[in-house]
Amino acid sequence: MNILVINCGSSSLKYQLIDSASETVLAKGLCERIGIDGSVLTHTPAGKDKVKVETPMPNHTVAVKLVIDALTNADHGVIKSLDEIGAVGHRVVHGGEKFATSVVIDDTVLKAIEECNDLAPLHNPANLIGINSCREIMPKVPMVAVFDTAFHQTMPEKAYLYGLPYEYYEKYKVRRYGFHGTSHDYVSAKAAELLGRTRDDLKIIVCHLGNGGSISAVNHGKCVDTSMGLTPLEGLIMGTRSGDIDPAICDFICQKEGLTPAEMNNVLNKKSGVLGLSRVSSDFRDIEAAANDGNKLARVTLDAFYYRVAKYVGAYAAAMNGVDIIAFTAGVGENNISGRAEICKYFGYLGAELDTEKNNVRGEERIISRDGSRVTLMCIPTNEELAIARQTLALVK
Ligand code: AMP
Repeated sequence: MNILVINCGSSSLKYQLIDSASETVLAKGLCERIGIDGSVLTHTPAGKDKVKVETPMPNHTVAVKLVIDALTNADHGVIKSLDEIGAVGHRVVHGGEKFATSVVIDDTVLKAIEECNDLAPLHNPANLIGINSCREIMPKVPMVAVFDTAFHQTMPEKAYLYGLPYEYYEKYKVRRYGFHGTSHDYVSAKAAELLGRTRDDLKIIVCHLGNGGSISAVNHGKCVDTSMGLTPLEGLIMGTRSGDIDPAICDFICQKEGLTPAEMNNVLNKKSGVLGLSRVSSDFRDIEAAANDGNKLARVTLDAFYYRVAKYVGAYAAAMNGVDIIAFTAGVGENNISGRAEICKYFGYLGAELDTEKNNVRGEERIISRDGSRVTLMCIPTNEELAIARQTLALVK
């Protein structure tokens, strides 16, 4: 069965058409600038050249129509008609406490997702628009919602409650949820598989280090803690997000700089992290190049990033009373060889020994620790689209 995986943002729509039998990507693409001038669809069929379609996309329904046109096009299409799409899997950012697993979408599910909009005001409404547009164009095709938060719903109360008046949890569900759940689930399962074991008897720490970053503790197959919180702002120092800070800083800076809370929130999400600290870029490659050229701020930015990762790993090893596997994934985790080496320097006390030769790898699934290392270190490429396609297939089969 072919499964269309959709990841919808407020002005963008990413898609992959995946043949679930062979788990290969038939085509993938991206609609950008939906609802604004200069809309463009970039469509990449497997084994063929990329095609760019510049045409107005006043809304997401038009974008979905264009995606279907591209997929069924006589020249650059990969299927003959809509009938060859067996199901659609939608990435949904926030499932609150309502969704601990993926679900087949119906009107009740749509209403429940809408009720989570408050928790992710930038993302969930966009995800819903994507779902509704697909339902309009493909009314007979079953659709599944796969939540970024679902895998973390197994966290115990002691891990997800903040030290705030309990009424905020009761009234507004203010608690830690965690994100990148599809990736943490996929990578922890793959890591166990690479060791020839199942997750059920292992303690795994997954370091998802991309432009957004989060770490999770997966104890015997269940997530017991993760670094992102109510929103993706908590935890690691990220591309443009601050990660953990003293919350009193917000009021302090608002007063000093005359910012509103919304403007402060924007600083924390868009202007902080390694971008704000280094003054170079949000891209780790640029920061590394600057650091290698002698830029001291770039060097200290990288050091602060690695240090924060190491501290979370330490915390999660303590939370699980040990760790068997530490797996690195996402853009930085999969590709940044020196970054992994710097982070692993902190793991001596765990008996985790990096093998410099084996660590010389980018975007490939591999054990990167020495034989006999007490903790197995791994590089595991994540594949959120494939994970969404698998979960979709499991529910519609
Ligand atoms: P993601 O959000 O998972 O796509 O990750 C994006 C981040 O991965 C960017 O900051 C990139 O700089 C980083 N990245 C990708 N390739 C490399 C590489 N070869 N070395 C260092 N960082 C990389």
